[in-house]
Amino acid sequence: MPDNESRFQQLAARLKEHDYRLTPQRVALLRLIASSEGHPSAAHLYEQIKAQFPTTSLATVYKTLNLLKDLGEVLELGFSDDDNRYDGSRPDPHPHLICMRCRKILDPQVSLVDDLTQEVAEQTGFQVISHRLDFYGLCPDCQQNQ
Ligand code: ZN
Ligand code: MN
Repeated sequence: MPDNESRFQQLAARLKEHDYRLTPQRVALLRLIASSEGHPSAAHLYEQIKAQFPTTSLATVYKTLNLLKDLGEVLELGFSDDDNRYDGSRPDPHPHLICMRCRKILDPQVSLVDDLTQEVAEQTGFQVISHRLDFYGLCPDCQQNQ
């Protein structure tokens, strides 16, 4: 996994290729997306950016996220009962661990996902292109506060 700075540089380079102007507020937004700490929602990113750049709009945040998503540089996690969340740090499909109480989302370092994908492909004859693997539970903090 690249560090936040090199991931930011990658995202900035990809967007520049697509004539995206890197204004200071967009740079700040890209840095947040590059780290994607806790897999933020668009609204959460907007709140953080707005604190520094009050003229930023939520539409700008969505536009940037959607552009990066279309370029395959951001992984979008959709939920039927909650806002979509974003991972710009690791855009490849990978398992997620979701706290049902505080909605924290983590990337567990699990092995065997490649084996599982291969098993599914062999069983079904599918060419597997992507997957969605979410684990739900209570994080250690929320277990303490039960
Ligand atoms: Zn929690
Ligand atoms: Mn993730």
